[in-house]
Amino acid sequence: MSRDPYQFGAMMAEQLLKEWGITTLPIDPFAIAKDREITVAAKPASNGGVSGMLIRFGNDYAIAYATHIENEPFQRYSVSHELGHYFIPGHPDAVLGVNDIHESRAQFASKDRYEMEADGFAAGLLMPRRLFVSALERAGSGLAAIEALATLCKTSLHATAIRFAQCAPEPVAVVVSIGNRIDHCFMSESLKAVDGIDWLRKHETVPRSTPTFRFNEKGENVRRCTRIEETSNLQDWFGGRRSIVISEDIIGLGSYGKTLTVLYDIAVPDPEDEEEDDEETLRESWTPRFRR
Ligand SMILES: [Zn+2]
Repeated sequence: MSRDPYQFGAMMAEQLLKEWGITTLPIDPFAIAKDREITVAAKPASNGGVSGMLIRFGNDYAIAYATHIENEPFQRYSVSHELGHYFIPGHPDAVLGVNDIHESRAQFASKDRYEMEADGFAAGLLMPRRLFVSALERAGSGLAAIEALATLCKTSLHATAIRFAQCAPEPVAVVVSIGNRIDHCFMSESLKAVDGIDWLRKHETVPRSTPTFRFNEKGENVRRCTRIEETSNLQDWFGGRRSIVISEDIIGLGSYGKTLTVLYDIAVPDPEDEEEDDEETLRESWTPRFRR
């Protein structure tokens, strides 16, 4: 079985945190770099799109992070990504070109194995599963929980939402859309395990009957970071035969042009209870109705 580069990167980071005895959030990637005598420097905007760099001078390393996005979570993530290239075995030799410089671009986009491993490393470093899960248990539900966790971990809403879907024990889905198209989405393991539902996929269109579809029809909702809490139906998003009302929280991600949707409160009935219900319905439909 081929290993999932994202999971592998996250695991590497979690292992290192354990070795270092770091057990509290937020994790400080700047301090970790300093411990290793890696120089970290802010780099003003020049070549657009570069979020961070790893540079080698002989045996020494330096990390530069972009400041064109003035946003602490983004910068912490960028530094953590570069730390991934530093710490994951094999990375420095693979990613540092002939000039001993590696440039990383915005997160969540690359299909390159090394970039995915470094992204996984950043997520695992800033939101290590063990600490994240215990914080998650106290964080409530839906977008409010993701916002609380983002504040705690000093991570972006976007990165936190993805980690939330990966770690939440209950059925939840996180959908990032641009206009009427699903840009990417993550379903929790327990949601994936629900039978008879369609998996949401990248490039599919946002279902027309959902609050997210209506939200995205107004561009200013996205730009102004409007935030709404709505309800929708499991069937609208995932098909299947169960008509179940679910919660749908939506927030515009501002200048990125993206919308974050959190689907939760998905109370899927126990399959055994459902069978009984089906028998009941069947019996009823076969019982002649004399009265009325
Ligand atoms: Zn990179």
